[in-house]
Amino acid sequence: MNTPELSAITHVRSSFGHRFYSEGGCDGHLDGASCERCMTCGAVYELRRRPDDPGGGDYTAGNGDDPAQCSGDTRMCHGEEPCQADDGRPCNGGTGPCPHETHACNCLLCTG
Ligand SMILES: [Zn+2]
Ligand SMILES: [Zn+2]
Ligand SMILES: [Zn+2]
Repeated sequence: MNTPELSAITHVRSSFGHRFYSEGGCDGHLDGASCERCMTCGAVYELRRRPDDPGGGDYTAGNGDDPAQCSGDTRMCHGEEPCQADDGRPCNGGTGPCPHETHACNCLLCTG
């Protein structure tokens, strides 16, 4: 049984400063959407196919909003991930949420 081949998404409206690659922890959804992770900040957003444009797609946050702009910070944590900014340890000694954990991010990992 073959799944019908969907044409690749060749253009997006904006990547919001993120450098996405297709390895966000999913192999693609039935409707042709996929999750992509940013090489810089580690945020994961869904690349959704635009209904009116077969080769077009839009990066989308979990709630349907536009993605937050990339912070450019490679040490950002997402979801339940603990801070590892201090050589794999929390940068503040684990005394509470640090800036790497409390950034405003609306990616799929952070909004669950
Ligand atoms: Zn990013
Ligand atoms: Zn930190
Ligand atoms: Zn995030």
